[in-house]
Amino acid sequence: MTPKRILIQNGCVLTLDKSVGNFHKADLLIQGTKIAAVGPSLWAANTDAELIDASDMIVMPGFVDTHRHVWEGILRNIGTYISLDGDAGYLSTILNTLAPVFRPEDAYVGDLVGLYGAIDAGITTILDWSHIQATREHSDAVIKALQESGMRAVFAYGYPWWKEPDEHQEDWIRDIAKQCFSTKDQLLTFALATPGPEISSFEVSKAQWELARELDARITVHVGVGTAGRQGKLGQMGRAGLLKNDTTYIHCTTLSDEEIKMIVDTGGTVSISSASEMIMGYGMPPIQRFLNLGLRPSFSVDAETNMPNDMFTQMRSVNSLQHAMIFDRKLAGKRNLPPFMNSREVIECATIEGARANGLLHKTGTLTPGKEADLILLRTDRPNILPVNDPIGAVVWGMDTSNVDSVFVAGKALKRNGKLLNVDLDNLSKIAYESRDYVMTKSGHKLPEL
Ligand SMILES: [Zn+2]
Repeated sequence: MTPKRILIQNGCVLTLDKSVGNFHKADLLIQGTKIAAVGPSLWAANTDAELIDASDMIVMPGFVDTHRHVWEGILRNIGTYISLDGDAGYLSTILNTLAPVFRPEDAYVGDLVGLYGAIDAGITTILDWSHIQATREHSDAVIKALQESGMRAVFAYGYPWWKEPDEHQEDWIRDIAKQCFSTKDQLLTFALATPGPEISSFEVSKAQWELARELDARITVHVGVGTAGRQGKLGQMGRAGLLKNDTTYIHCTTLSDEEIKMIVDTGGTVSISSASEMIMGYGMPPIQRFLNLGLRPSFSVDAETNMPNDMFTQMRSVNSLQHAMIFDRKLAGKRNLPPFMNSREVIECATIEGARANGLLHKTGTLTPGKEADLILLRTDRPNILPVNDPIGAVVWGMDTSNVDSVFVAGKALKRNGKLLNVDLDNLSKIAYESRDYVMTKSGHKLPEL
């Protein structure tokens, strides 16, 4: 049987692949799960394909989020006023009060609302930093949600932060890796989300990283966070030869110059959650420190307890902050300043660099023929964006989630004509409120007052 063919016609196609180029007007052919061709006038040779008119659309790779605690979906905006530390901070409220009462079904529902929200916002790949794994059943519940969503995702198995790992934790991890991730040729891949040496000890971190490498799983770790990040713990791991190109380092806000250089020199990837870093007090997002060494970071939402769920916010906050910091130096009379990030670089961080950090650049991140068909259609006929004078500038600075018309993952439509497909929103709402109410009652935590 010939795989299903879809021809997306007459769109402004941003492949973001320099060898393919970008087009003001072109077609893109999906065949089965993959991109078969990109270029002008593909219709004549593909008259059997299902047609999608993209004449009022920008066609581009789906956004990639490299770090989100998706289980927190039912806790959306619950802590927009809180910082990381302190009595009523993120660690004490979200991770030490609310997380411990999450049943597997609460993790499932939290993930489900988070994932559908991400798809709705044009994100096609997400790394689920899932540090809610209190039992073996929690993993099954989260994996079920990831599979149901239809997204491309990295299930980054995370140790619970509110207690010591269970005596069976390592057995569960091995079991899951074997049962659910024996192949990498599927939408869902596996990584190990480790607390890292600032939260646990050098020895514990070392053992966890060795386990990840034994299982051929990428590592993702929070480092350089607040005052804990200033203790040189990552440097210690680096001097022991433990930093490799299979690791994504999140935040890195208070690392030393030596530690930043260690990450770059060992081929690591970086995830910046600029909005949460700024609002919760992690330290200054280290955008320029990595750019100076030739490393472009990926972007991540981090926590929907505080942050909006889209990559438009991330792109704009990083671009604004990078410019503000350079202008600040200029105003202070400094010379030989670094170049400003432009929209092209920023959109690549939200797509290509995300795919790289998630270990999936060979499959996604650009609209390159042969890659998986993970792409989005963004409406250009809306009053918030017309007339489009610079398509890349329009995506980075002018658009928002209301422009996301269609979302495809591996050639399958998950959103069309501005509507999510295959989702019972009434039921999603019902189970989200039920689960949220259970977690609040059980934990005794009160929702913010008006
Ligand atoms: Zn995080």
